[in-house]
Amino acid sequence: MLVQKYGGTSVATIERIKQVAAKVCAAKRAGNDVVVVVSAMAGETNRLIALANQISEIPDEREKDVLLASGEQVSVALLSLALKELGQPARSYLGHQVRIETDNAYGKAHIRNIDSRKVVESLNKGEVVVVAGFQGVDEDDNITTLGRGGSDTSAVALAAFLNAAACEIYTDVEGVFTTDPGICPNARKLARISYDEMIEMASTGAKVLEIRSVVFAKKYSVPVHVRSTFSGLEGTWLVDEEASMNDLLVSGVACDKNEAKITLQRVPDRPGLAAQIFGPIAEAHIVVDMIIQNASEDGTTDLTFTVPKADHKKALAIVEKTAPAVEAKGVKVDTDIAKISVVGVGMRTHAGVAAKMFEVLAREGINIEMISTSEIKISVVIEAKHADLAVRVLHDVFVEKQGNV
Ligand code: ADP
Ligand code: ASP
Ligand code: MG
Repeated sequence: MLVQKYGGTSVATIERIKQVAAKVCAAKRAGNDVVVVVSAMAGETNRLIALANQISEIPDEREKDVLLASGEQVSVALLSLALKELGQPARSYLGHQVRIETDNAYGKAHIRNIDSRKVVESLNKGEVVVVAGFQGVDEDDNITTLGRGGSDTSAVALAAFLNAAACEIYTDVEGVFTTDPGICPNARKLARISYDEMIEMASTGAKVLEIRSVVFAKKYSVPVHVRSTFSGLEGTWLVDEEASMNDLLVSGVACDKNEAKITLQRVPDRPGLAAQIFGPIAEAHIVVDMIIQNASEDGTTDLTFTVPKADHKKALAIVEKTAPAVEAKGVKVDTDIAKISVVGVGMRTHAGVAAKMFEVLAREGINIEMISTSEIKISVVIEAKHADLAVRVLHDVFVEKQGNV
């Protein structure tokens, strides 16, 4: 059994949907049971978000999910029609029809369980099963969505629950590259990448795979193959870490332009402060990424953190409520930032990557606003206008020259 996922650009037009149908038919005729997960047609999810924003600055989350889920409903129907037109029996399923059960965190729901009975029944009848990505249903039957790029997670989760032989992620690039090929023409396709490196790449902005899909793939050892819808070439396999991967200092550079930075200015430095600020943000299911706090001699501290841009208005509203209670002198927000990261399992055994990264950025006159590190990753926040340049110079030094400058 194969699970194939086709992203928005792969189903952007009727012509492409017909091409996808032909590919799916070929896989079925080669003797596989095929479950297909599709995204909304390219641009559709953005269009729907913009519609909601014309009515409300912070739209009601339940209704927003009902709206966003409609994009994928259109594409499952069109692909199923195209398959039937080719003589291939097919059946579309929305998230609640399969029953992809999630928690109730609208806009970023987690998959809890997938009831695969109907999918298996369909497959046993010889049908290709076409499942709407990105959506699920909570225990009270509310429609939920999984967060941007969430169709990847739908596909990997289905592959895990169905015990599929592989999950193929079909997209508009040839696989996972050393950096975004749209930014850096010298980016190289990786034949294999470890689950852990891919988790770091995804969490730092390499949107070719959504992070939760990679976490899921690692947890359930799902063989994932990222490849192009259009070329038919072998792409990139996600695999367990291999010894040879440690030879490379850095395996990739990632860029994330989808975060915003919020600063609480000159807050009195006392125990409980951070808990008071971050508690309500966590209750609103907003994921905080980097945090910096630095106490000054006058007993106050500036506290800066980053959140997804899509959540920054919500986060700001919450912080503005907490600010008087923690006696902050002001709240600032900056959406004009980018996070640039270098990732590689080789960093575990090599010192000096951070220092070299800072040196390379300094040489270009790029100021670093925030820094965070993990065992196999270093991230910096810089002004958005320098993002592409930073990616190219870091890729040149770390990937092409492997740090030997
Ligand atoms: P889909 O609609 O198929 O889900 P996405 O737009 O979500 O496709 O993801 C594919 C895009 O991810 C590519 O077009 C590319 O610009 C971007 N990308 C960012 N980093 C990388 C990377 N390291 N390797 C490959 N693609 C990347
Ligand atoms: N359509 C959704 C989005 O644009 C989900 C996806 O494409 O994976 O984020
Ligand atoms: Mg995607």
